[in-house]
Amino acid sequence: MIDGTHAPTLKSWVASANGHPDFPIQNLPFGVIQPRGETRRGAVAIGDSVVDLARLRDSGLLSGTAQAACSLAAQPTLNDFLGAGATIRRALRVALSALLAEGAPLRPGLLHEAAACRRHLPARVGDYTDFYAGINHAANVGRLFRPDNPLMPNYKWIPIAYHGRASSIRISGEPVRRPLGQIMASGVDSPAFGPCQRLDYELEMGIWIGAGNELGEPVRIGAAADHIAGYCLLNDWSARDIQAWEYQPLGPFLGKNFQTTISGWIVTPEALAPFRTGQASRAAGDPQPLPYLYDETDRKSGALALELEALLTTVEMRAKNIPAHRLSIGSSRDIYWTPAQMVAHHTANGCNLNPGDLFGTGTISSRTRDGLGSLLEISNGGKEPLKLPTGETRTFLFDGDEIILRAHGRREGFASIGFGDCRAVLTPALESPV
Ligand code: MN
Repeated sequence: MIDGTHAPTLKSWVASANGHPDFPIQNLPFGVIQPRGETRRGAVAIGDSVVDLARLRDSGLLSGTAQAACSLAAQPTLNDFLGAGATIRRALRVALSALLAEGAPLRPGLLHEAAACRRHLPARVGDYTDFYAGINHAANVGRLFRPDNPLMPNYKWIPIAYHGRASSIRISGEPVRRPLGQIMASGVDSPAFGPCQRLDYELEMGIWIGAGNELGEPVRIGAAADHIAGYCLLNDWSARDIQAWEYQPLGPFLGKNFQTTISGWIVTPEALAPFRTGQASRAAGDPQPLPYLYDETDRKSGALALELEALLTTVEMRAKNIPAHRLSIGSSRDIYWTPAQMVAHHTANGCNLNPGDLFGTGTISSRTRDGLGSLLEISNGGKEPLKLPTGETRTFLFDGDEIILRAHGRREGFASIGFGDCRAVLTPALESPV
């Protein structure tokens, strides 16, 4: 479904969009902004500006399906727009592309400077599920505990996940506070309550659910991609010490739910069409997915080839104007299950999804050392400190550290697009109660 909106030669009259690393005219991701002194409304990123969809709705420039789509996308949350499906989304994309293209009349009245607007979560997230589909991460973490048998026997049969916490999802830029919790140190026989000492990030992609399904009615694998409205970056902050003590037998809880940071722009399946790719081939001896998880089209084109990066800055680095240190560079192809397989599995028992539900893919790591998606892996379980350009070292995060996640699609013959930053600074823990 490559069309004129993807043409690499297409330029915009919004000058900052041309050659923009994230938001050229070929991207057009959706989000929610609040211009100074005004209410929240939907917006589309273009270069260093945003298109105010409430102004566009009221401008009389659109008609038909594009106008109906714009009315939905102009709302203070995008749930209705996400739920409306691909036809609506495409109509607005095509109209925006024409409106913003070089040669079209300049309409600066529709724009704000992105930096002058507050940004909000793009949708009300009713439910959040975090998968564990980054197979190299799962193997690396498993190896720390079970050197001979890193992956559990179910891993290659089931897209493993847990139900996360929707209330603590925050948009990029909001600080995250070091959590307090119950920690069992080694060599003692009772746990203590205090600040997390092993605070980590997890580099993940987020998947926005569009159209939902009725309770009791599974989404078939062949239709599952139609239920995905877009993608973002997701940092699943993880308190490794709290997690290690609490997770058995029911899984992650307070070690994960204190905060999750996502990038604010929803990058659509349409924008990502040039970066679709086949599912990475399964290793020899891996089982075929069960029929309810298998679709030939999905296998051939249901994955995404995106470059993923994690970067770190410290207080000292920022004070000395030292650029962010790249912790990893990897690929979204290192995900064992496609987004469609996640949707099909999540609903296979009749569980219902709603517009604006969010999935995390699980931490995405490469097979190689330069693409590990968490400090747990980079520091080999906290044993091998990482050295920064200032001479500082890290196994886990210090107060004042900032983690920045980035994603880009790059392919010969197409304009590169990006997701915008997913970033947050770590602030000190509250003082422990007595
Ligand atoms: Mn995770």
